[in-house]
Amino acid sequence: MNIHLLPKIIPNEDTNQYWQNISKGNLTIQRCFKCNEIWAYPQKVCCNCLSTDIENINCRGNGVIYSFTIILRAPTPEFSEKIPYAIGIIELDEGCKIMAEIIGPLSEIKIDKRVSIVYSKLDDVLVFPKFRI
Ligand SMILES: [Zn+2]
Repeated sequence: MNIHLLPKIIPNEDTNQYWQNISKGNLTIQRCFKCNEIWAYPQKVCCNCLSTDIENINCRGNGVIYSFTIILRAPTPEFSEKIPYAIGIIELDEGCKIMAEIIGPLSEIKIDKRVSIVYSKLDDVLVFPKFRI
């Protein structure tokens, strides 16, 4: 896959720390001090109570497959070499969900199957979290 043709992810003030942590092999999630809500993607406010009193916490990177789909048709021409592949929602052991690619034999991907994080280097800067069965 020619990564230079893929849509660019440009870390900003809100996401820069998240991408830096992932590039060091550390997926971080966020927790609200006020209501204890936990979520996977960096935000400035709690998605439950809108509090700004939140913290980043380290994620162990383990969970189960909550849902998944097998991609058989490339969403854009840049993905044509990659198909078929699996995209799923992983329920992390910490209690929140994250969408990511699932790596492994497609026939073995099942709901509730245990997965562990794999840090996939996309280029010199960006690393993506994927999950292996
Ligand atoms: Zn909250």
